[in-house]
Amino acid sequence: MLDLQNIIKRFYVGKPNELEILHGVNLKIKRGEFVSIVGASGSGKSTLMNIIGALDRPTKGEYHLDGIDICKAKDKELSRIRNQKIGFIFQTYNLVARTNALQNVELPMLYGRKGRTDRSKRAKELLELVGMGDRMNHKSDELSGGQKQRVAIARAMANDPAILLADEPTGALDSKTGRLIMDIFHRLHQEQNKTVILITHSNELAEETERILTIKDGLITGERKGSLSYAGA
Ligand code: ATP
Ligand code: MG
Repeated sequence: MLDLQNIIKRFYVGKPNELEILHGVNLKIKRGEFVSIVGASGSGKSTLMNIIGALDRPTKGEYHLDGIDICKAKDKELSRIRNQKIGFIFQTYNLVARTNALQNVELPMLYGRKGRTDRSKRAKELLELVGMGDRMNHKSDELSGGQKQRVAIARAMANDPAILLADEPTGALDSKTGRLIMDIFHRLHQEQNKTVILITHSNELAEETERILTIKDGLITGERKGSLSYAGA
């Protein structure tokens, strides 16, 4: 469902310099896979994630998502694809400040067809699912890091996307809280057949996914099977 061929990404950093960050990435990810991408800081993980998530376009190469040619799609179509197919989770949570958990989760649904009652019902169910049922009316600045990340996962799930794209989701959390977040990803993968793409520095977390891709200096340099040891919460 996700097919990237020879992806090159250059950033223009003032004449005459163009900085090439991705040098020809080839990557295929199937529906329902739980994949991790590991690599050192500066190796190009977030640059690649932005392309996978259709937040940015490659300079060269081909990217097909569910058969759609992402490189040729118009901006409006890209934003529709993002909204429908992909749920983003970031290291820094990116919740809307001074807005409560429920409203944060309702936000991505505002552009869809759901009425107010249905949006609120869905948001409540998702917050229950991530164990935040008792914090729905807390403003985002009144939540701990782990709680914020759980709200962010609920928000990413709002439009029931097939793909969850998480860039260092546990990077700012202690290991116990990070564990809890990983458990949520495992559950969404197993129970809802989500495709989960996890970008991480942690070899230990990567190890428990199905497939581990290593990125180094803008190239995928290795691929191996993970253990996916998770046996349910
Ligand atoms: P980290 O683990 O620290 O998050 P990363 O693997 O996610 O690192 P990227 O954020 O993808 O790394 O950055 C890779 C390289 O691309 C870096 O050298 C960075 O400076 C450069 N880069 C990223 N975005 C831009 C941009 N918009 N313009 C110029 N250079 C950029
Ligand atoms: Mg990064």
